[in-house]
Amino acid sequence: MSLVPRIQVLSDSLINRIAAGEVVERPASVVKELVENSLDAEATRIEVDLVNGGRSRVRVSDDGCGMDPDDAVLALERHATSKISTADELDHIATLGFRGEALPSIAAVSRFVLVTSADPAQGGVRVTVEGGRILAAEGTARPRGTTVEVGDLFFNTPARRKFLRSPETELRHAQEILWGAALARPDVAFVLRHGSRTLIDAPAVADASQRLKDLWRKADKVVAFDAAAGGAEVRGLLAPGGGRGRPSLTLLVNGRAVRDRLVVGAVLRVLRSAGAGFGGARIVVDLRLPPGEVDVNVHPAKAEVRFSRSGSVFALIERAMRQGVAASQGRVEVRSLEDGPPSSGLAERQPGGYGDMLRNRSGGGGPPLFDHPAYGEVSLAGPAGHPGESTEWRPTTDHPRIRSGARAGAADTPFGRLIGQYRNSFLLLEDDYGLVIVDQHVAHERVLFDQIRRRLAGGEAPSQGLLTPCLIEVDDAHAAALPGVEGILRKVGIDAELFGPGTVRVLSVPPEFDEAAVKEVVEGVLDRATALDGVPEGASQELEEELAASLSCRGAIKVNHRLSVDEQRALLDDLLATDNPYRCPHGRPIILRLSQEEMERRLGRR
Ligand code: ADP
Ligand code: MG
Repeated sequence: MSLVPRIQVLSDSLINRIAAGEVVERPASVVKELVENSLDAEATRIEVDLVNGGRSRVRVSDDGCGMDPDDAVLALERHATSKISTADELDHIATLGFRGEALPSIAAVSRFVLVTSADPAQGGVRVTVEGGRILAAEGTARPRGTTVEVGDLFFNTPARRKFLRSPETELRHAQEILWGAALARPDVAFVLRHGSRTLIDAPAVADASQRLKDLWRKADKVVAFDAAAGGAEVRGLLAPGGGRGRPSLTLLVNGRAVRDRLVVGAVLRVLRSAGAGFGGARIVVDLRLPPGEVDVNVHPAKAEVRFSRSGSVFALIERAMRQGVAASQGRVEVRSLEDGPPSSGLAERQPGGYGDMLRNRSGGGGPPLFDHPAYGEVSLAGPAGHPGESTEWRPTTDHPRIRSGARAGAADTPFGRLIGQYRNSFLLLEDDYGLVIVDQHVAHERVLFDQIRRRLAGGEAPSQGLLTPCLIEVDDAHAAALPGVEGILRKVGIDAELFGPGTVRVLSVPPEFDEAAVKEVVEGVLDRATALDGVPEGASQELEEELAASLSCRGAIKVNHRLSVDEQRALLDDLLATDNPYRCPHGRPIILRLSQEEMERRLGRR
């Protein structure tokens, strides 16, 4: 036997099987390719039927343009596509498909039947293929449109078949694909059936917001948000979940549903920084970019894209998301100037949150709060100061002088005299300037953040063993990422290890955190590590910061949590000791001030 292998040209059927390895990973990939073909064929209604999670059968039927009999056979040849013909066109792809690989790849690894008709008067054709071999092409009647039936996926590649998961898992993946397509194209009707159950029955509607409600009955409140910059535009939808489970994101880029771990990371970061309440949320981010700024041809299944200016894309998405979160919480996000004019009423903002209330009152121009003779003229002495307004608190020495006789009591905390806790959520204090309002959750988050960062910098990490280790189910990518982050986790007191395939076991956690919090945090870190591709040099710093931020957010006391006076004081002392008592790790303000002057103006005292 020669040591030097001879180079051979692969046979077509082998090439197709290899390509199938790239394009077809699981039943959901079949669903994706077939649905994309139906959309490209300008179908107005697409029906998907699955049996056994798609493992036994995937059938996709459409009322699109169909194919005439010759084309139907040609379509099964590799790189046969009606969608592009010159290299030039690859840069301006307007269709979902363009590689001409899907049909032959799928047909190579299944029992495949294509029934299609472009013109019922001429008759349709039924092409039967098994493992890539065309067995028959015969005339048949069919209304205009196409049905592709894919049976026994991977029947001839047992190694691949072994990698299929349970029908439930496969079904979930397929459902996810349909969600993406259905949200991208609300103008097309979609049906998904599993056996005899109808899981999706979404009629054609005018907009994605209605589509989201049709797909997800739980979405009673859907908030829309948007942002634009430099030719890029984001429109989004946010439907808060019940507070439990992982939020899930559908990302559309120029109308194509794609995965992008970095975008997922950006979205999760914003949700995490918003505190609890977005568990199980459904988010749709619809990103529109000039075609030249995004490359869709980087992944065989077209499931990923590459942005030419990824930094600004993520920044735009984060900004839009923050606005969506604020709208969903009933706050009005203060827009910075670079945001441009406010959106054209897409976001249904519900007023009524705390921040909203305080901001509205500080805005000036509104009616006085009270208009009553009993609050009549009071003469106020003192020099004129600059117009009062409630502002984020900053240490400053040029406080406007107090004009009224009202004086602050002696300070008994670093931030002034403690008045008490308001609505179990905010600490109220008075100082020479006026009223000081401290958000207890964000304040505690800051305290924990600094503490965790110190541990990461090499301090000792207290950790306590769990009586029953906590088990986290992870996918292969996450499992592979664990070794890269074990060290970082250990530094903050989380002891996690791989425990059989698909499971991570957490043995001990830092004393401040409960199991549920740690579970979420570990998942988040694995998410990020996967996104960063195995924690390359230089990224671990970023990862540590994020770990600290998400741990502190998870571990911090929430709003609506009663604190004793001692606890309130301790929190304020700890807050003062942090690197930056005025801003939380995510940049949210911690302290708000309402000046005495503002109060008096509002009360008609000046
Ligand atoms: P691509 O979508 O990349 O062109 P495919 O292998 O998915 O490659 O499909 C090959 C060709 O078959 C398409 O270009 C199209 O002309 C035709 N085709 C596939 N599915 C349909 C369909 N549902 N309706 C009409 N034509 C279709
Ligand atoms: Mg295609």
